[in-house]
Amino acid sequence: MDDCIFCKIIRGEIPSTKVYEDDYMLIFKDIEPKAKNHFLCIPKSHFKLLSEMDECQSEMLLKCLKKIPELKKELGLENGYRLVINQGEDAGQSVFHLHIHILSGQKMGWTPA
Ligand code: 5GP
Ligand code: ZN
Repeated sequence: MDDCIFCKIIRGEIPSTKVYEDDYMLIFKDIEPKAKNHFLCIPKSHFKLLSEMDECQSEMLLKCLKKIPELKKELGLENGYRLVINQGEDAGQSVFHLHIHILSGQKMGWTPA
């Protein structure tokens, strides 16, 4: 996807602070952190919504979900963490490349609005 910010980050056309990378995913710091630690995990295949995933992309997403808890120290997950996947307009999704927000390093409340 030529004009997708996250595809550009994957291709190295936009700089990012990378925490982990392999053939399937990239994990990097969010540019506007909403918690003490705020990372984004993105599959290396472009799709917007869980409902649009093909078989290969769903395998990639599963690899992401398995990898995140393995990076306990790098992501500051020792005392718990929150994963968020915003989907569509009501959730405020602003980048249309599926991404998992990883929030950690502090106590978090529950304020959906
Ligand atoms: P969304 O609102 O789509 O769920 O989340 C998009 C996230 O991407 C936001 O938290 C935003 O701060 C982050 N973001 C947007 N552009 C960039 C960028 O160029 N670099 C990084 N590291 N994060 C970005
Ligand atoms: Zn993309």
